[in-house]
Amino acid sequence: MHLVLLGVAGAGKGTQVERLRGKLGLVHIAAGDLLRKAVKERTLLGQKAENFMKEGRLVSDDIVLELLEDKIREEKKGFILDGFPRNLFQAKKLDEILHRENRRLDLVINLEVKESTIIERLSRRLVCSSCGRIYNKENLGDFSSTCRVCGASFFQRDDDNPEAIKERIKSYLKHTHPLISYYRKKKILYNIKGEQSPEEIAQKILNFLGKKEKI
Ligand code: ADP
Repeated sequence: MHLVLLGVAGAGKGTQVERLRGKLGLVHIAAGDLLRKAVKERTLLGQKAENFMKEGRLVSDDIVLELLEDKIREEKKGFILDGFPRNLFQAKKLDEILHRENRRLDLVINLEVKESTIIERLSRRLVCSSCGRIYNKENLGDFSSTCRVCGASFFQRDDDNPEAIKERIKSYLKHTHPLISYYRKKKILYNIKGEQSPEEIAQKILNFLGKKEKI
């Protein structure tokens, strides 16, 4: 199965992937994580991408494709793509990569959320520095300094600040939002409201996939 998760920053893509990938036996390919790794390791691609990412602007298609194309090709058993494609050029490129190997996208899950929800969620988001699990500042309770799963410390992403958040929303509306109608026309779009609890959303997606399998 080949899935794409679509949605503005803070829509809950990462949270859903954590819940879905194990249940579906799929590999998670996250454009943002691969880019952040390249930045951390100071690779040439990472150095080129760094400032764009800090400001919340899109990195060039060349850089993203260089990081992702082989991964997409290698994951023969299926994947959940998150953060890619982010514009029409990338969407067409993805179709091409899959088509060359007689594969195709099965479903694009679009998580819809209001702008006010996004700003609130992102400004209090913390990420585990080891496993990438997502937390928020208010809900940590007794586990205030380390990850419940792996015990590592948290960090706040460089781009989770008001300016970069605004820029990411702008970039989403301009470049990524048009993908909704692109995939709707292909009849592989599934819309779901992202303001429900993470459990409810995951369950609805799984139910939908179950029904789709039977068709
Ligand atoms: P979010 O969805 O929370 O904004 P991501 O972790 O998916 O964040 O991406 C972080 C940043 O990495 C983006 O703001 C952008 O600069 C860059 N990026 C990620 N994916 C892509 C992509 N497919 N094309 C261009 N830039 C990308």
